[in-house]
Amino acid sequence: MTVRTRIAPSPTGDPHVGTAYIALFNLCFARQHGGQFILRIEDTDRVRSTAESEQMILDSLRWLGIEWDEGPDVGGPHGPYRQSERGEIYAQYAHQLIDAGYAFKCYRTTEELNALREARKIAGMQLALKPADLALNADEKSRREQEGWPYVVRMQVPTDGVCVVQDMLRGRIEVEWAQVDAQILLKSDGMPTYHLANVVDDHLMGITHVLRGEEWINSAPKHQLLYEYFGWEMPTLCHMPLLRNPDKSKLSKRKNPTSINYYRRMGFLPEAVTNYLGRMGWSMPDEREKFSLDEMMAAFDVQRVSLGGPVFDLEKLTWLNGLYIREDLDDEAFLQALRDWAFNEAYVRQILPQVRPRVETLSQVAPLAGHFFSGLPAINETAFDSVKLEKEALVKLLQFLTWRFEAVPAWHKEALLEEVKALAEYFDLKMKAFLAPVFIAITGSATSTSVMDAMVILGSDMTRARLRHAIEVLGGVSKKQAKRFEKEFQEL
Ligand code: GLU
Repeated sequence: MTVRTRIAPSPTGDPHVGTAYIALFNLCFARQHGGQFILRIEDTDRVRSTAESEQMILDSLRWLGIEWDEGPDVGGPHGPYRQSERGEIYAQYAHQLIDAGYAFKCYRTTEELNALREARKIAGMQLALKPADLALNADEKSRREQEGWPYVVRMQVPTDGVCVVQDMLRGRIEVEWAQVDAQILLKSDGMPTYHLANVVDDHLMGITHVLRGEEWINSAPKHQLLYEYFGWEMPTLCHMPLLRNPDKSKLSKRKNPTSINYYRRMGFLPEAVTNYLGRMGWSMPDEREKFSLDEMMAAFDVQRVSLGGPVFDLEKLTWLNGLYIREDLDDEAFLQALRDWAFNEAYVRQILPQVRPRVETLSQVAPLAGHFFSGLPAINETAFDSVKLEKEALVKLLQFLTWRFEAVPAWHKEALLEEVKALAEYFDLKMKAFLAPVFIAITGSATSTSVMDAMVILGSDMTRARLRHAIEVLGGVSKKQAKRFEKEFQEL
């Protein structure tokens, strides 16, 4: 048997370090067994998926040195590798399940489903909805069918007993069937859900081992049952530990930069980031901290993955990156790294229009445009002295803007302006007054290039990291404040 693994990212945002981490382990597992590694795009969520996000995922994985044998850009014998292009395949398999009695059409409306859930909640029952709960009487069912009501396709699930799933690292995992919903397989628009598409594709693409994040453990019983219904052999499952913040909470962009774009923009070397991701829950047999991707692939043993939540620690990564810069880069390579990073024509060209109208000598360029070539600005609280706002209001402004920016799907000037305008209105400030503290947070100074353009050029993650940094410099947000802010923000 040829080992085949895959990564199956959903292109719904920035390229996440967690995606790269899972990709790396799948790649190493495949290579270790002389097998293949596949990249599949799970873009069945048509509202949230974007082509830009897909491109960023491919680019950042490549930047890290992670290469795939088959995928949407390189092709392969099991394509298409984008789920949005495989719609007919899923519909056909969903109907096969209906014909065999393993799935059924469900005509329940959203209101009815909410009412059913509410009633169960009040009765203190499990919330999972089973086929029997969803059944309509025969007359009503045929009426809705004849009138052409929208329907979803759901899978049959047992009502009681325990489902046992085997995991390569965790051994036996038990989940009570009572907790498992009659999962939707096809939505009313005919698109498959993650569960159906994932199982069908893993099977058709010959995937033998699925290494994925532990957040998918609860899906495993449904997947196992689908493999049984289809009569297919299930790939071996391996649920990897989730990356964590230093406070052990799940790694989230609210606390840490999670986008690979950020690490790239911050001037980390891809070799160091990949090496660091390889240290997440895994170690070399000789425990050394610095190793290349080739060395990791050669020494890889999945059984060395430890399940205690690996901490993604920026300080540690920075330290490791320093080792790479000092030990691995000769002058030539260092120069090249600088070029790849920001001292290249494409990037400098973006800065030119910002700088030209504002300088009289070339020597003014570096002091003026330094923020385009740096990480977090060296500021302290006094940097905000000129801002005429109470400290609490100032911190709130920066915090609200950070949160609004988290949700911006496409990072371009109009979108950012919209957020800024909305918040300026909310804080009852003129644009200029609203932007004054933002200006300092982003450029590190009270006079510089346009802050709106700077944010566009710096990108979402670096912008948010600088806003967060400014909040920290101003003393941070206490737990109590955070609660209050959240509440107010939600009502916005
Ligand atoms: N599309 C899922 C994700 O975004 C894939 C999960 C899996 O590997 O099964 O993580």
